Amino acid sequence: MEKRTGSEGSPSEKRKSPDKKNRSAAEKSAASFAYKKKSYGEKAAAGKAKKPDKKTAAERSHAGKSAVKTSMAGKSTERKSTAPEKVQKTKSRCPWSGRCGGCTMIDVPYEDQIREKQKVVEELIGDFGPVEPFIKMKNPGRYRNKVTSICGIDSHKKPICGVFRERSHEIIPVKTCLIQDRRADAIVQSVFSLFPSFKMKVYDERTGYGMVKAIQVRCARATGQIMVTLVTSGPAFPSRKNFVDALLKLEPSITTIVQNINDRDTTMVLGTREKVLYGNGYIEDTLLGKTFRLSSRSFYQVNSIQTEKLYNIAIDMAGLSGKERVLDAYCGIGTIGICASDKAKEVIGVELNEDAAADAQENARLNHADNVTIYADDAGQFMTEMAQKKEPVDVLFMDPPRSGASFDFLQSALILAPKKIVYISCNPETLADNLSYLTDGGYVMKKAVPVDMFPYTESMETVVLLSRTNS
Ligand code: SAH
Repeated sequence: MEKRTGSEGSPSEKRKSPDKKNRSAAEKSAASFAYKKKSYGEKAAAGKAKKPDKKTAAERSHAGKSAVKTSMAGKSTERKSTAPEKVQKTKSRCPWSGRCGGCTMIDVPYEDQIREKQKVVEELIGDFGPVEPFIKMKNPGRYRNKVTSICGIDSHKKPICGVFRERSHEIIPVKTCLIQDRRADAIVQSVFSLFPSFKMKVYDERTGYGMVKAIQVRCARATGQIMVTLVTSGPAFPSRKNFVDALLKLEPSITTIVQNINDRDTTMVLGTREKVLYGNGYIEDTLLGKTFRLSSRSFYQVNSIQTEKLYNIAIDMAGLSGKERVLDAYCGIGTIGICASDKAKEVIGVELNEDAAADAQENARLNHADNVTIYADDAGQFMTEMAQKKEPVDVLFMDPPRSGASFDFLQSALILAPKKIVYISCNPETLADNLSYLTDGGYVMKKAVPVDMFPYTESMETVVLLSRTNS
């Protein structure tokens, strides 16, 4: 599944309507995943929280947004007012600038990007406590370990692959991107180049005919393992064996090839059914000395270098002594909890996406983290049940999608009252909203550390340490 697509700064994560904010089916439906799922009792009676009467997040986000627009995107606004594409071609580092909609800051010097993002984060959450300087990337660029290329038909009825033009269904043939892994870009082109000889037709969303909807490539930075996912409109793949052989001949570095079937007319790239065509169906990467297996539908941070810094900061903030019971909410493939597990007594991870939860459980096993247990469940529901059972939690890591944590999650967090909450956020606007609720409920923001996970885009990641005021 695609996590918090916006935060990854690529509109290509979605199959269509890139402007629509949509959660995947897996995110929408509470998982009924049975393994390791235990009931923490009946859902707590839904109480009503009072609305915080501080500056609203909407007010803050407005302030934040205008700050981004005036300074970061100012240049592109100027360009748009003249002859956008002509000017961009001569001036921008990227020939697609202003069209793909991904890197709105591609021509902004890195220091200026950071300065502007810092301003936005401070404006949005500075009222709650100190915001430390952004953790920058030493060599920003080519950081995305995942590339998604949409397949379709261009205006001359020719097969094409690339990304959606901003706010449209037109595909622009981006062959390489300054923030994407070079190997992944090249592999996408190799996959695409094989279609004619195997009579594989790309999907035409106007007619609904055609087989290949998208090509996705994921690279594990530390291990070099590479996964190719071919998204098809149906299960049929007549020449699959020969296709796989030909692809491996062209790109021997590929370690696994998966067919993902997405027969629905949805905004999300990936469907729910998969067939492994070659290899294990997953790749492994390492972060902070731990090994992580990830399958094509599991969320994995796209910038591995910055992820290690992010996790180090988060785990450091938790100040674990080895005695704590830790909850890793929205745990994905279990990365944060497993990285923290050596320093805790027990780690419980909860994740809605069943594939990711299965990966997380397997990752705990791979790393001999016997004190880690993963549950596939909606985090809000899970927390509510824990709160009702009065389960002890000493430290809560929370890393929700862009929409932030749900009301029942936040309400239960206050009931469970962990000594520390380490909130990892990819959206400072919903973070501000959630902080408002948590600080009204007895927490204080000790500090916030923004980490630049998405250079050249306007996306911002922030780690926040909250402590209970009466502890
Ligand atoms: N902490 C992980 C994943 C963070 S991304 C990491 O650093 O890699 C957010 C995760 O929340 C995704 O894996 C997504 O599938 C999951 N998610 C989204 N909505 C959820 C919900 N309601 N309950 C539990 N998990 C959810």
